[in-house]
Formats: sequence, structure tokens, C-alpha cells
Amino acid sequence: MPSKVHNFGAGPAKLPEEVYDIIKNELTNFEGTGISLLETSHRTAPYLRLNKNVQDVVRRLLDVPSNYKILFLSGGGQGEFAGVPLNLMSRTGTADYVVTGAWSAKAAKEAKKYGKVNLVIPPTDRYTDIPNQSTWKLDPNASYVHICTNETIHGVEFDFIPDTKGVPLVADMSSNFMSKKVDVSKFGVIYGGAQKNIGTSGVALVIVREDLLNNALPICPSILDWTVNAKADSILNTPPMFAIYIMGRVLEWIERQGGLDVMEQLATKKSSLIYNIIEESNGFYVAPVAKNVRSKMNIPFRIGSIDGNDALEKEFLKGAEELNLIQLKGHRDVGGIRASTYNAVTVEEVKVLAQYMREFYKKHNK
Ligand SMILES: *Cc1c(COP(=O)(O)O)cnc(C)c1O
Repeated sequence: MPSKVHNFGAGPAKLPEEVYDIIKNELTNFEGTGISLLETSHRTAPYLRLNKNVQDVVRRLLDVPSNYKILFLSGGGQGEFAGVPLNLMSRTGTADYVVTGAWSAKAAKEAKKYGKVNLVIPPTDRYTDIPNQSTWKLDPNASYVHICTNETIHGVEFDFIPDTKGVPLVADMSSNFMSKKVDVSKFGVIYGGAQKNIGTSGVALVIVREDLLNNALPICPSILDWTVNAKADSILNTPPMFAIYIMGRVLEWIERQGGLDVMEQLATKKSSLIYNIIEESNGFYVAPVAKNVRSKMNIPFRIGSIDGNDALEKEFLKGAEELNLIQLKGHRDVGGIRASTYNAVTVEEVKVLAQYMREFYKKHNK
């Protein structure tokens, strides 16, 4: 069996190997304190420095304008499914949700607990496209418009930033955060859990425009209240310190690679390697998503037909495991295969998968 494992999991997902070396070195002696960060108070100078350094690297990578706060909150991505309406819904009591896959559907469902939710595009259960913005039914009175820029399960990724006519745009970027440059000034709020592309689970990175603060509903728990957390500089309670630390080390690694332009080039290259095999296989592999919105992070596909061939898909996964290509099983909601090509997954690893895919279809598609 080959010794190296190639992890194509959707999340918690692969971290850069170099970051593991750094974590190992620092684990029991954080910044010369003689103790681990795991047993350090969040009110000490070393942690306060870390808290600032991680904010700074987020700001540098995404060019975050000075009128945006950067918050590290507990509760991951889904914590913010509640956090978003709890912090913004009071503006008008209603919000627009663009549901393009399972995650934005879940976000919309959570928001309904706190106000009226308007579905901007017709409901579907086959998420394979993003309808043209000219067909969207936006409510000019909405408190905000929510999108998920990359649907991790369905593999649908926005290839544009919607024009919401002045209504604040809120984006769940859990699975494509830091995979490319983004014009932050086009958004009111950007948030995401870290464990897909920028770290490990437990922390949500929230970037919020300052004029949107001070709108929280009275029932908003302090722990989810952006205004309270901004005032406390993300140290309201004990934050998920280790997850924040890992996120910082991952973001510094991205910087050393050359930043987000390089991440984007690599994402294009890696995802093309897979999509090209799908195309060349003449219908043996089927990618259900429309070409212009195919995700560069999560690539779901079926084998044999659009609804998949159970036996072939099982055989594919088994053969992949034998080559140490792991966590390729599609999400249980959609079945089939899903390859995630996040920042930490190397071009070489994707080439191994692409080669396996080619051999597999040549063997079966005679
Ligand atoms: C994984 C994921 C979430 C949920 O993140 P948790 O940290 O598990 O709550 C939300 N949105 C998207 C797009 C995701 O991929």
C-alpha cells in the first residue's frame, strides 16, 4: 500500500503539511512562554498578540477596509446561521435568501425563527445552477440578502457578486474563504466556519461592516452578538483559542505561498484537472452542475449516469481507497463522488486522482 494518504475530504479538510510542522514545534511551548497555548489564559499578552496577529493577516489577505470588524466567534458556520438574523433582522423584520444548495437552505430555515424569510429564487431540490440575477425576486425592504458563495455539498459556486441595490449582502464563505481575492466592500457581512479551507472546526470568522452593528434583536445571545463581541475584541468569553491559532498559521502559510491570487490560480488548475477528465470521459462521469457555476473547491460527480450507478461508484471508491485517495464519498444527500480541492490539497495529489479517474473510465467504458 502506498504510504502517503491523499485527503479529498470536504471538511474538516486537509491542512497544509508545513502548518503541521509548525504546530508540532509550538505545541508545548507557545512563543517562548514554556507552556502550551492549550493551557494559556486568553487574557495574557501572548494570546492578545495572537488575537491581533490573526486579525491582521485576515485584513492583509483580503484587503479588508478599515470600516469592517474582524471577529472570531464560537459556534462555527451554523452558529452564524442564527447570528446573521439575530444581528440584522431587526432592521426591517424580513430578509432575502438566495437558496442555491443545502447550506443556504439550512441558513434560510434557521433565519425563519427570527423573522420573515423571502426566497429570492424558486425552490428546487436539484441544485445545479444559479438563475440569472435578472429573474431574482429581491425585496427592496429586506434587512439583508443572504447568499452562500460556495455550496459545499452541491458544488455550486457563485461566479459573480450580486447587485443588491444597496441592501446589505451577507455571504456564507465557509468553503471558499481565502480561495481567491474578494472585494470585501461589496459585502455587508462575510462569515464562515474555518474547517474547510482555513483551519479547523469550532471557530467562525466574521467580517462585518461597522454601520451594521447595533442592530441585534433583544433576544440575541451575547455570544452571538457581533456588537458585543466587537467591543470585546473577540474575547468576550474563552474563545476557541486553538482553532483561532491554527487559522492564523494557515493564513500565514497562504501569505508565504504568494497570497490569494496564487490560491486562485491553483484552485483553477486543480479543479480543471478533474473537470477535464469528466468531460473527456464522454458521459461516463457526470458533473450535474452548470459549467459557469462549477465549484473550484468541491467537485461532485456521478458515475454511469446522472443518477449514478451504485455498483460502479462503490467500485470506484474502493479502488480509490486502495491508492490512499480518501474521503471521496459524496454527501449522503446527493450520493456519488465528491472531490474537494481546497488550498491545502496539492496539484500533485489532484494529478494522482485524475490519473486514477482516467484509468477507471478506460477500464469500464470500452
Ligand atoms: C460546513 C459548512 C457550514 C457549517 O459549518 P459548521 O462549522 O459545521 O457549523 C455552513 N456553510 C457551509 C457553506 C459549509 O460548507
